[in-house]
Amino acid sequence: MNRTYPPGATIGVMGGGQLGRMFAIAARRMGYRVVVFTPEENTPAGQLADLTRIADYTNEAAVRRFAADVDLVTFEFENIPVHTVTWCAEERDVRPAGSVLHIAQNRLREKNFMNSAGIPVAPFLRVRNARELESAIAEIGCPAILKTAAFGYDGKGQRTINAGDDLGEIVNAASADELVLERAIEFDKEVSVIVARSANGDIAAFPLCENIHRDHILDLTVAPARVDERVERMAADLARSIASKLNLVGLLAVEMFLTTDGNLLVNELAPRPHNSGHWTIEGCATSQFEQHVRAVCGMPLGVTEILRPAAMANLLGDLWSEHEPNWAAALQTSGVHLHLYGKEDPRPRRKMGHVTALAATCAEAIERVTAARDALRAGRK
Ligand code: ATP
Ligand code: MG
Repeated sequence: MNRTYPPGATIGVMGGGQLGRMFAIAARRMGYRVVVFTPEENTPAGQLADLTRIADYTNEAAVRRFAADVDLVTFEFENIPVHTVTWCAEERDVRPAGSVLHIAQNRLREKNFMNSAGIPVAPFLRVRNARELESAIAEIGCPAILKTAAFGYDGKGQRTINAGDDLGEIVNAASADELVLERAIEFDKEVSVIVARSANGDIAAFPLCENIHRDHILDLTVAPARVDERVERMAADLARSIASKLNLVGLLAVEMFLTTDGNLLVNELAPRPHNSGHWTIEGCATSQFEQHVRAVCGMPLGVTEILRPAAMANLLGDLWSEHEPNWAAALQTSGVHLHLYGKEDPRPRRKMGHVTALAATCAEAIERVTAARDALRAGRK
């Protein structure tokens, strides 16, 4: 079905996090109504939505009522039970479709899908016990990274395995029964492409982003990625091809490694707006959030042209450890934009917000965001 939902329609969003918050801002600006479904009160998305429905994802009656009350349903994070998506789909259009979510929810399914679609990924094997880990290590080699197949984010549920490690102990300590062992890739850079695909098959790719992680959490994104044109083209082609093969309607982020020998390997897929695309709010003709709205509502996709080089730095809860961040000092940096997600509890490693800077060059944009973030730590006068 290829229905369109023009402004004025009500979009239901599953999930209450910051991606839903920035989606709600874009959608409401365009004249849509937004209803958020989340198990929690006072969520980042709920604060900016027209309405929040608070219930558990497993509460079938509440999920169906939510879906029936909106015109279409989308989601802002992957880990929504498949049943929940099915209930919504029985009431209303769900975009992207539950089948896409199902693939992206599990690393093994995701990697098997990519293998069968001819998309290059790091060598991997399924691991369920110490014996399988041993044979997987023998095949893949060390160092390798063991990840939980489901529910991982920001590097949670991951561990690096080096030669000589006690494999039995590692499997026992793992928090899940189904694991994936991946070869640790020697990369030059991590990059990502965000693509949108509409129901009629149009695809628009955002400029390539360069991502710098710290402790397995995204720290900094720079756009356009400082790579040669060949890499940029290859990355966009891969993302387009994945979006088509998934028959995606919506937004998809494709995380990749640019290996030291100049090849791209896909690391992960996220069928939603992505942290590495936050800079598009100020840096692109259309933001990833507006693009998500357009794609799921069946509206024409927006132009993805970059306006100026941009850098985005995440603000983690750690920044609050000594005192409230010095907002005034950060905002004094020229060309810096502050985004806070309305979260009350600044736990370490928790994403609380981000800052974006535009500048004449990538180097200058990086200098500005890092200066702004450093200034947050400065004591107030
Ligand atoms: P997120 O959802 O925040 O992207 P995640 O927990 O789903 O994170 P991954 O994206 O798989 O996990 O890994 C997080 C980071 O860990 C990667 O961006 C990369 O820096 C590092 N990493 C993961 N897998 C590998 C690998 N096979 N080789 C080298 N580095 C890796
Ligand atoms: Mg990732």
